[in-house]
Amino acid sequence: MTLHQRPSLQEVPAYKQGKPAAAGASKLSSNESPHTPLPSVLASIQEGLATIHRYPSIAAPELTGALSQQFDIPAEHITLGAGSVEVAAQLIHALAAEGDEVMYAWRSFEAYPSLVRIAGATPVEVPLNAEHCHDLPAMLAAITEKTRLIFICNPNNPTGTVVQAEALDEFINAVPRNVLVVVDEAYVHFDRSERADGVALFRKYPHVAVLHTFSKAYGLAGLRVGYAISPLEVAANLRKVAVPFGVSDLAQRAAVASLAAIEELSVRIEEVVTQRERMYEGLAAAGYPVVKSQANFVWVDAGEATELLEAKLSAGGVVVRAFPSEGLRISSGTAEDVDRVLAALTVKEATA
Ligand SMILES: *Cc1c(COP(=O)(O)O)cnc(C)c1O
Repeated sequence: MTLHQRPSLQEVPAYKQGKPAAAGASKLSSNESPHTPLPSVLASIQEGLATIHRYPSIAAPELTGALSQQFDIPAEHITLGAGSVEVAAQLIHALAAEGDEVMYAWRSFEAYPSLVRIAGATPVEVPLNAEHCHDLPAMLAAITEKTRLIFICNPNNPTGTVVQAEALDEFINAVPRNVLVVVDEAYVHFDRSERADGVALFRKYPHVAVLHTFSKAYGLAGLRVGYAISPLEVAANLRKVAVPFGVSDLAQRAAVASLAAIEELSVRIEEVVTQRERMYEGLAAAGYPVVKSQANFVWVDAGEATELLEAKLSAGGVVVRAFPSEGLRISSGTAEDVDRVLAALTVKEATA
């Protein structure tokens, strides 16, 4: 006799993590910060170590208070999770159940399809347009009576493209007010375009939530902390579906210390943007179909040449995220990492 299990989980792949890198290789597969933690952040974590026998505060008053101040938004709107992936899961569980639809662009963040299916809801994937951007008219046309949530990943992972301010405003205005638009801004700090501002849209419309994370620009991927800014009635339900004590005290402390260190972090963020542009220029000059990015990575629309390029980079000591027959995403690392990427391109015969 076999165990009763949910048949629907057969369609759910296990989350595929960016490849680990061998010692000495450049790990450019998961969009992490290439920089080790700031001393002030490490010190705040050190202080918290003495009390790890206690549960953390679920309300996390220091962190929600600091975020509330930063955005000038009442703390009741701000809810936390173990990374913004968990917050995305909370949003789906809070708003969608069996038979409900959750829409997002495709290709976009790899976690969306699994999270939707795990919740028992139905994913609705709207293909990106020819410019690798969200196809907002097609997304509007795909809204049905069953739509509960629409994710807009801005900038989009893995293509690095953005939805501009006016276009997103018009889109949100056209979405029925009983459907929540979630603007996932995991990469917002790296955007140098006339970007749509998720928080401004949250202020303007009653059916907008924003997702932020400390994993990318703030360099805390290993500690798991992210948050949503959402309408009060949504925030109340996010607190109900959250995993209790999901955000450790160490993560809360590190996040507060990171908010306080934004000037130091900004220097690092600028450096990542500089290296992203260098990598873009180098790939373009070498004739690769690289897409202009506003995130901390670039997308190479390599199609059938994906495996060959991955092999070249791998031979040059660079680990990237490849989507077979589609393309590859290369995170923006340090200047040395990008040197390696560009050097690997010039090698004529890769040992695949
Ligand atoms: C990395 C990423 C996140 C954040 O992940 P965490 O769980 O906060 O580490 C969220 N959304 C997108 C699109 C991402 O790429």
